[in-house]
Amino acid sequence: MVELSLVTPIAYLKGVGPQKADLLQKELQIFTIGDLLQHYPFRYIDKTQFLKIRQLHPDMHGAQVLGRLISLKEVGEKKGKRLVGQFKDDTGSMELVWFQSLSWLKKSLTVGAPYIIYGKPSEFNGILSITHPEMELYQKAEKRIGNMRMQPVYSSTEKLKKFNLDSKGLQKLQEVAIATVYRTLNDPLPPYILQAHELMPFAQALVSIHFPENEQLMQAAIRRFKFEELFFIQLRLLRNKQLNTKKYKGHRFGEVGEKFNKFFTQRLPFPLTNAQKRVIKEIRLDTNTGAQMNRLVQGDVGSGKTVVALMSMLLAIDNGYQACMMAPTEILATQHYNGLKELLGDAICSVKLLTGSTPAKARRIIHQELEDGSLDILIGTHALIEDKVKFKNIGFVVIDEQHRFGVEQRAKLWRKNLIPPHMLVMTATPIPRTLAMTMYGDLDISVIDELPAGRKPIKTVHFFENKRLRVFGFMREEIAKGRQIYIVYPLIKESEKMDLLYLEAGLEGLLREFPMPQYHISIVHGKMSVKDKDFEMQRFVKGQTQIMVATTVIEVGVNVPNASVMVIENAERFGLSQLHQLRGRVGRGAEQSYCILMSSNKLSKEGRTRLETMVQTNDGFEIAEVDLQLRGPGDLSGTQQSGILEMKIADLAKDQALLSEARQRVIQIFQEDPNLASPENHLLVQFLNQRGAAISWDKIS
Ligand code: ADP
Ligand code: MG
Repeated sequence: MVELSLVTPIAYLKGVGPQKADLLQKELQIFTIGDLLQHYPFRYIDKTQFLKIRQLHPDMHGAQVLGRLISLKEVGEKKGKRLVGQFKDDTGSMELVWFQSLSWLKKSLTVGAPYIIYGKPSEFNGILSITHPEMELYQKAEKRIGNMRMQPVYSSTEKLKKFNLDSKGLQKLQEVAIATVYRTLNDPLPPYILQAHELMPFAQALVSIHFPENEQLMQAAIRRFKFEELFFIQLRLLRNKQLNTKKYKGHRFGEVGEKFNKFFTQRLPFPLTNAQKRVIKEIRLDTNTGAQMNRLVQGDVGSGKTVVALMSMLLAIDNGYQACMMAPTEILATQHYNGLKELLGDAICSVKLLTGSTPAKARRIIHQELEDGSLDILIGTHALIEDKVKFKNIGFVVIDEQHRFGVEQRAKLWRKNLIPPHMLVMTATPIPRTLAMTMYGDLDISVIDELPAGRKPIKTVHFFENKRLRVFGFMREEIAKGRQIYIVYPLIKESEKMDLLYLEAGLEGLLREFPMPQYHISIVHGKMSVKDKDFEMQRFVKGQTQIMVATTVIEVGVNVPNASVMVIENAERFGLSQLHQLRGRVGRGAEQSYCILMSSNKLSKEGRTRLETMVQTNDGFEIAEVDLQLRGPGDLSGTQQSGILEMKIADLAKDQALLSEARQRVIQIFQEDPNLASPENHLLVQFLNQRGAAISWDKIS
């Protein structure tokens, strides 16, 4: 018989069989014995710790108590029937409650005897209780107390539980699995890495993560597997990058030519910031190596990414290529188009806009001009990647707000030329370093970490409802100075009616405080037709209205430099990055701008942290970092579709240090052994290939 190993299908494991195997696959994506062993416990019950009844608290996940069962009686009737036991130790007493198997329990429990119980404490009407506790007679337990340890808890599902694969059932399987494959285990990490990073060897770590003897061993095992996971992700990303560099030649932009220089000397309306200069230089160097560039530019709202993109595109055009820029929405594409046209004037190069609503005739002309090479720059939405859109010689592609585009779409743009164009990806919101390293680990990253000079930082304050009149007074002062004001209400996803309610309730007060004809108010919300929305926005843009009341539709889009105040109602209902984006709508002119966060008095701890963070900092990177800590990577905007973030054990919010360590190691490996050819690294390649199959890496590379 063939020896079972990590890659053996789970059905072959003793005690599994076809039916359970099928369930394990469907419910937990466990296909092989290795997958099972990677189904790590999500927490542990410390069976070495006993708590006193007085120490128990309803917030605890579970607690183990040694005490005496004083009494046992049945109460209630029919469906409400339950068994209630009084349980006492030297600090107090509590109730144990059962709703099922009452007659069996009555027979098997011994009133008066000492028990060790385990369960989740809860509190009802001031009475502490545990429902369906695990019960073990102290006498019986005594024998094993000597070698008690951390008991793992595995996530399971209702279906699995029906087949005895609850946490305990899974634990038993793990035991069988380890015993079965133990002899075949190979450490995927070579000894030199284990040593350098003080990592527990593989086999020992597997045992210690599933059956830890104590907290220390458990932590060491967890650290090892986290490192391993992060390490292989980075290894894969950087190897892909390396392979791509070799595989794909890139267009060489050898010269900085006439159009670039003309723009720089005649058109550029402001001096570039040092950060902008640095990034443009990075791009220039990158595009002159003969390899294809894949670069991510991160910069806060208003840091001036557009002009960087434009100058890069001019570089391409000077070298005989076309360029295009893709944005996720029509509004954004149109704004880019208008912005670029204004920057370029008429003389430098040709620019056109292609979106879903471009009329057929104009579209045909664009297709024609792209193919004969007379069109230099094309701005657009997804319409750009349609197969009909063919370039004569596309050399440079800018993607704004990358995370809304799938990698597949990125790839489609690549194929628009024999030699793939250079790719510049710009994110709209900063992402924390760890996320960037993982989501975009195969890209080079540039950061524009400086705002154009002369911008006054936006002043942000947080008020409760009782300051409402003061806020109105302040608004009147600003309007008297000729400024304009946004007031934003939350969009309530669960109930579309709710957001209108918020908006309508607020509006009533506003109309009283800011009556016509002295004041004019624009209103924009999700229920309006595009045409009406546009009309209302235009009134505000033209300065015909002083106040724009809106649900979050203004998040993307409008640019009104004269608007100096952003009032955000029920600010506690917004996410951090949303708040930051909204705040970015003001502070675009020369005037001092303000962001006023209004909230109810009832704030959750997290809500308070969000508002405090907004008041404390204008730095988008700092805000993104706090957001990551609060919500975890899975919930950050744009990361949901990215399979890369579904990690088995590592947590990008908590394991930043370990991630840096792993990435550093991988970088060093590639420096010393670019082809991973040395014998000690050979194993790494083997594991990389083996494991790659199980993970849908195509999502990210
Ligand atoms: P974002 O990075 O958010 O896309 P934009 O490129 O839209 O920022 O730039 C925001 C505003 O700042 C624009 O009005 C732009 O013209 C202006 N801007 C960009 N760079 C500079 C600079 N170096 N000095 C002054 N203003 C600048
Ligand atoms: Mg932008």
